[in-house]
Amino acid sequence: MCCDTIIAKCMLSECDDCMSDVKIILGEGCNYDKKLKWKKIENKAISAENCTTLHKIASQLNSLLPGLKHTVLSKELKSAYFATCKESLINLPNKVVMQIDFAENYTLTEQDAIQSHYLSKHQVTIFTCYVWHLDKVYSFDVISDDLRHSKVSVRVFMQHSLLFELKKIAHHVDQLFVFSNNCAGQFKNRYTCSNVCFPKMDFYMYIEWNIFAARHGKGAVDGVEGSVKRTV
Ligand SMILES: [Zn+2]
Repeated sequence: MCCDTIIAKCMLSECDDCMSDVKIILGEGCNYDKKLKWKKIENKAISAENCTTLHKIASQLNSLLPGLKHTVLSKELKSAYFATCKESLINLPNKVVMQIDFAENYTLTEQDAIQSHYLSKHQVTIFTCYVWHLDKVYSFDVISDDLRHSKVSVRVFMQHSLLFELKKIAHHVDQLFVFSNNCAGQFKNRYTCSNVCFPKMDFYMYIEWNIFAARHGKGAVDGVEGSVKRTV
């Protein structure tokens, strides 16, 4: 459908050489009045099966393509920048790349608990962090009984726990490249973005905050989550 998935002109539907119509690929010989079964799968767990014409299916695919191409371009560029940042660390002892995320809450269970404890189990937040520095990698976790997973949690965990530990392993660090997912309640909001406005004052170093494309925020932090839960 397009010349190249990393060329912005193509992915923003501005290229004349890209085929922008599904019908061009299907060809002229298609019977567009032919009825087909069409399965529509939404974000939610809904799966509706309709019987409609090929003409309507092609039209719907055409209307969805610009949005899909824009998302793919965003994902490709952000992933490439993440990889470039990690590769550039070799000769830069003052630079660190950090990926952060909230894990699913961990439910605490006690082996010798009384029967009524079964219905009142407590949970804890696990805030995971994975750090790339020079040719080494480090993993950190913040475990807290605060279950809000909010912008405030992010700031407190970053400022009072993670950066404190980071300074222990890398004293000369003055550039921090943070990568997080695009959750609006936690990272992709004006409050979290304000952290980069006063980095020297609040975090004692220059900070660049990057947000992954929607649904593409998985990474090493998820492995940290699994290891912590398995160890406890
Ligand atoms: Zn093109």
